[in-house]
Amino acid sequence: MDLHERLLVQVSTRDVYDAVALAGHPGSGLVFTGQAAHDAVRMVRRRGYDGPLLADRRRYAGSARVRGTVRLSPDWIADQVESGATAPLTDSGYIGKGDHEALHTILEQALQWEGVIAVLPVHARWVAEDRTVLLRTVTDYGVRTALVIEDGPPYRPVPVTDGAGPGAAKMLVAAGDRPPYRPVPLPLLGAGVEAVAALAHGAEWAAVGVREVLRHLYPEPHEARGGWRRGGARSAFVPDRLEFVPVERLREETCGCSSCHGRPLSRLAEAEELEVNTHNAAALHRLRSRLLRATHRERWWRDLTRNAHTTKA
Ligand SMILES: [Zn+2]
Repeated sequence: MDLHERLLVQVSTRDVYDAVALAGHPGSGLVFTGQAAHDAVRMVRRRGYDGPLLADRRRYAGSARVRGTVRLSPDWIADQVESGATAPLTDSGYIGKGDHEALHTILEQALQWEGVIAVLPVHARWVAEDRTVLLRTVTDYGVRTALVIEDGPPYRPVPVTDGAGPGAAKMLVAAGDRPPYRPVPLPLLGAGVEAVAALAHGAEWAAVGVREVLRHLYPEPHEARGGWRRGGARSAFVPDRLEFVPVERLREETCGCSSCHGRPLSRLAEAEELEVNTHNAAALHRLRSRLLRATHRERWWRDLTRNAHTTKA
């Protein structure tokens, strides 16, 4: 079983009972998050789920996060292999702005395990100004990787190479509080709609978080500004706007996913979290199916984001 063009759903370990319901789409799979993620993987395997399963320890997030120079745990790798994970992820720490030492330490350690995926939780600058260095370093080590991109201030957009004109780079990424960087062709963990953008730009696989906190890597120490960390709020993915919207702010837009059947999204304002997430997974997989049918994927994504912006204006 491989991860080729998979759009995974990233959930908490406590979501283990609902998770399989969200990962029934062809081309789907699950990423469990947290210290006991491998136990959730084992449980779901025992219940017969045969899609891809990953375990992200997420030591790189939160107020107690560790730096990327920390020693990676062989036990964590072994636990994942033993529990039936598709490929083991490293329990990496955070790679700050310009922290080359952390980046090299993670990749160097990952070399010791065959088939491991080195998790690279990076400051936003690594996918903007330092993008070339990042991609070259990853290629040099020849290790499989997965990025987690921290929210951050808007760094200078990297010019796009297709000559689409000023502002084009900005259009490659859907609106939100993410910096306007050009999608990186590497697998992506803990993302929002950027997961689909990554697939459109050649990433092997990508994972969409089931709730706000799993769709962002917040800078630490966290400053509560601009509505960041809307933790408990349920948000629904609005296909026409290409963004997640808190359910109480949903309008009369309709959705044609296999859960909504053309009904208005505003119906989700009173729905259980599982119902909201069932729509989210279905709507995002609909987008993935369209992506797979597109003859030129980057162009398809660019047109889609351009139209989404038009809708909003
Ligand atoms: Zn829907």
